[in-house]
Amino acid sequence: MKAGVLALQGDFREHAAVLAALGATPIEVRTPEELARVDCLVIPGGESTTISKLARSAGLVDPIRERAAAGMPMLGTCAGMIVMAKRVIGLEPLLDLVDITVRRNAYGRQVDSFEADIAVEGVDHPVRAVFIRAPIVEEVGPGVRVLAEHEGHPVVVEQGNLVVASFHPELVGETRLHAYVLEKV
Ligand code: GLN
Repeated sequence: MKAGVLALQGDFREHAAVLAALGATPIEVRTPEELARVDCLVIPGGESTTISKLARSAGLVDPIRERAAAGMPMLGTCAGMIVMAKRVIGLEPLLDLVDITVRRNAYGRQVDSFEADIAVEGVDHPVRAVFIRAPIVEEVGPGVRVLAEHEGHPVVVEQGNLVVASFHPELVGETRLHAYVLEKV
């Protein structure tokens, strides 16, 4: 299986390593042609404003939206959650896919980063999560399932073929969330 990782900005190498460990072939996606070759897509963390700018200039917004609508499984982590959300407080949404409202940088600054073990519905063992300037999910629409919460806020949500997490699993070699999404392919 060819597992794409959006490689415009941010930490795509760690995601590629996780996908390879799960037996998939990781493909860095920077163009619509590369997107057309993959069976699923991970959108990594980084800086959502920069990812948005680069995705627009690469002409990737409509092709990603079309693949998502056609059922391609996608995983967005941290900034990836932000760019997949339908509503971002104070920022134009990019992909407008997942029916949630997110607030950027809501867990504080870089120095407030923390790790936690998160119980995720459908995943049999707690997922190790690293929160770095993570977004908070403020609202969840009716078609969205909350798979995990942390201190009263959703941190993993699923809308059909789309899964978004406010944290980084890949930074600690956590593979279970990626495995959950690959099972949808
Ligand atoms: N704070 C970043 C943003 O708003 C997200 C941080 C991350 O991906 N670790 O895009």
